[in-house]
Amino acid sequence: MPEIAEVETVRNTLKKRILNKKIVDIDILYKNIIESNIDDFKKDLINKSFIDIKRKGKWLIFETEDRYLLSHLRMEGKFFIKNKDEEIVKHEHVIFTFDDNSTLRYHDTRKFGRMILINKEDLLKTKIGELGYEPLDKNLTSDYLLDKFKNKKLPIKTVLLDQSIISGLGNIYVNEVLFYAKINPLREAKSITKFEASLIVKGSREIIEEAIKMGGTTIKSYTSSLGVTGRFQQKLKVHKKEGEPCPICGSPIKNIKIGGRSTYYCEVCQK
Ligand SMILES: [Zn+2]
Repeated sequence: MPEIAEVETVRNTLKKRILNKKIVDIDILYKNIIESNIDDFKKDLINKSFIDIKRKGKWLIFETEDRYLLSHLRMEGKFFIKNKDEEIVKHEHVIFTFDDNSTLRYHDTRKFGRMILINKEDLLKTKIGELGYEPLDKNLTSDYLLDKFKNKKLPIKTVLLDQSIISGLGNIYVNEVLFYAKINPLREAKSITKFEASLIVKGSREIIEEAIKMGGTTIKSYTSSLGVTGRFQQKLKVHKKEGEPCPICGSPIKNIKIGGRSTYYCEVCQK
């Protein structure tokens, strides 16, 4: 699953390549990617241009003069930019053709990704309105987290993946943040102290900043024209390190499932 840093990298790359080009055609080869009415989707986008691309959590927000196109890549979604003449390959589900004969192609082997076209004033009525603060948002504080954690008996690992609390922290980053904060992922959220909450805030910021700087964690390298190979994975301390020595104490890193998600941690360092 793309994490926030990959989505940020995709956003920055697309901004350089597609802004202000007129959309002249849209081919929708797999309708379920589009949550809006297909005819309206085409009618409202053709002859328009994307004038900006924003991001909130893992949502990309393509802006036209009067609409927002929300796109979530989910597990395997990717964008490719290709010439109009290039053959359409398997798993390319939505193709935007621009007036310079370039195309933006949405590719998704799992077909879990979604696109939704909305009026600008409806943005906060969508799932985006339910998202919590991002790691780099100044409003994300230890007091905010403690308020969200109180009375919660769920494991802290599960609660940190809840996008309505912190948006954009996925499984890889939560594993790393809990190692940074020396917190056992199985602890009940309500047991987290103010000091530990402040370490979660600090760790989230440092890890996300570093990951964005390095272009994401992408485990598989992209072969697309958006060519992004994540270098941040080299910096990971516990994620996917089962059996390897903890970088602090040398004990083997454990791998357990919490809420169905692979959780890597050091049971000696993380209390
Ligand atoms: Zn350790």
